[in-house]
Amino acid sequence: MSESQPKPETIENENENEKEKKKRKKRGHSGYVALIGRTNVGKSTFLNTIMETKISIVSDKPQTTRKQILGIKTTKKGQIIFFDTPGIHKPYFRLNEKMMKDVHSSLNDADLILFFIDITEHRKDDFIISSLNTASKPVFLVINKIDKFSKSKALEIIDRWKDVFSWSEIIPISALKEINIDLLEELIYKYLPLNDPFFPEEELTLQSQKYYTGELIREKILHMAEEELPFTTTVQIEEIADRGNVMYIRADIYVETVSQKKILVGKQGNFVKLVGQMARKDLEEYYEKQVYVDLFIKVVPNWRNSEIIISQLEQ
Ligand code: GDP
Ligand code: MG
Repeated sequence: MSESQPKPETIENENENEKEKKKRKKRGHSGYVALIGRTNVGKSTFLNTIMETKISIVSDKPQTTRKQILGIKTTKKGQIIFFDTPGIHKPYFRLNEKMMKDVHSSLNDADLILFFIDITEHRKDDFIISSLNTASKPVFLVINKIDKFSKSKALEIIDRWKDVFSWSEIIPISALKEINIDLLEELIYKYLPLNDPFFPEEELTLQSQKYYTGELIREKILHMAEEELPFTTTVQIEEIADRGNVMYIRADIYVETVSQKKILVGKQGNFVKLVGQMARKDLEEYYEKQVYVDLFIKVVPNWRNSEIIISQLEQ
């Protein structure tokens, strides 16, 4: 009927807005958080602490290589998706040119970046800082291992770092002793956009079996090796075969020089044997069955420039 008054539009809009607001409130804050920082600063420890479990439930789903989802934490407040940015510490050689692009697109996929430093380390990480500048995302400076230092020493370190970049937050934590982890989690939610969760609540990680297995072996090498080695070593999983009662894993470890190979082999093969043993222990927990680890050390001079190995790393 022509007399029927159209409802005043403004009120209807207001109702809509209210509804939207309520819906959004229910949604919570969800988004992607990049974990970056040198090897050994405590990223994995932090992840295990905040996830309240050693990440071992893994579904084998294909992922792009430019970011590896490490952990997904879902709470009443929302969902935090932690991911890794492979290659962020290697600004040199050809490998790194390709990876530089990945680093940048990976950081651009993040809603928030957590940049980890170890309070006992002094390096400034210029390459990373310049990557952060181009990413134009909020970045937290996470100063880990504060349990190792006194409060006044911690303040001194903060002072040294505070003007290096325009940090959104600076948070001293101890991933190991669980100091300030809750506070950090609160702050993460604060910076994530209002979104529905991206993944089902029960999903904890999307790391592929192959990636996880390779990382685990690499972790054992790094923990045992001399300082120089980590930057010239990579692990390539050649085979993961379920042979009924045993999971057979064959991996190549690449180094650049014969002397590096000697270090990795160790006296009478002790070093590599120990790496294999330590990896096996964790892998048996992960695969929930007996594991056989076969490690081969290969010398490829300049492997970082090798197209073939780079393309294999992408799988
Ligand atoms: P990632 O390479 O960055 O993943 O570092 P990890 O999580 O593997 O940790 C490297 C080493 O630092 C391990 O031996 C950890 O136990 C140790 N670590 C990690 N977080 C802390 C911390 O808050 N305090 C202390 N004292 N040690 C830590
Ligand atoms: Mg780690």
